[in-house]
Amino acid sequence: MDLGIKGKTAIVCGASKGLGFGCAEALAKAGVNLVICARTKGPLDQAAEGLREHGVNVTAIACDITTDEGRAAVLAAAGHVDILVTNAGGPPPGHWSDWEREDFIKAMDANMLTPIALMKATLPGMIEQGWGRVVNITSQSVKGPISVLGLSNTARTGLTGYVAGTARDVAKHGVAINNLLPGIHATDRAKSLDGAIVKAKGISMDEAKAQRSATIPAGRYGEASEFGAMCAFMCSKHVGYMIGQNVLLDGGATVSTI
Ligand code: NAP
Repeated sequence: MDLGIKGKTAIVCGASKGLGFGCAEALAKAGVNLVICARTKGPLDQAAEGLREHGVNVTAIACDITTDEGRAAVLAAAGHVDILVTNAGGPPPGHWSDWEREDFIKAMDANMLTPIALMKATLPGMIEQGWGRVVNITSQSVKGPISVLGLSNTARTGLTGYVAGTARDVAKHGVAINNLLPGIHATDRAKSLDGAIVKAKGISMDEAKAQRSATIPAGRYGEASEFGAMCAFMCSKHVGYMIGQNVLLDGGATVSTI
């Protein structure tokens, strides 16, 4: 399928590995020029090298996207932005009684206020040209809360509320904003959450992974490449009529009828 986005420019945040890299790679395969970021320069530059093999321009900005300076650097490098994919690391797991105000502020900065700031900066240009796509990487925790990830539940639900209203406001300008909700995918984030179970239950990594896989009807963790393919589709010319939706990629783990 021709996604119809060859030659467009995308910002993909948190893209040196994992789901962000999966999205960047799928967009590169569709001919989209990229500005990618992550905090650690070495792996980011390596990711950029790999992405350039698809024949697109890739600018790599080593920065913390949750800071004003980081966002300014990424936006300046991109200049004109057609497509925005927001992403940053997820908050740590814990217990409802552990979290203090500062923990919530940090989670909201990363997983709610940063995507909102990036949308605020890029939507005017998209509106002016009459075309734009935004995909926010959120979490299955928006549809079905995961109690140990209360910081994520809270911050991402706030972002989801913002998108629900804003997406409907900008749709008339040819701009489609949607959220992509990962369930468990085989990335370093999944490994670190497996590791928390290893610690809590005194079992091996393989056992922790098997226990979590058993909660997924598909019987396995998702792959970043599958996630990236869906993201690229959600950035394509085909989704102009899909507005403010929350697309769940979780192997069936979240139990609901619709
Ligand atoms: P990952 O494998 O740990 O990759 C995270 C990427 O984001 C890396 O490139 C990382 O590079 C970058 N990053 C993290 N914090 C950043 C920051 N402040 N500024 C710029 N770049 C940053 O994680 P993932 O599995 O791809 O997860 C991506 C998002 O989806 C996270 O928010 C996660 O909570 C959420 N999620 C993941 C799963 C899953 O099972 N994988 C499930 C539900 C939700 P640096 O560390 O070098 O910055």
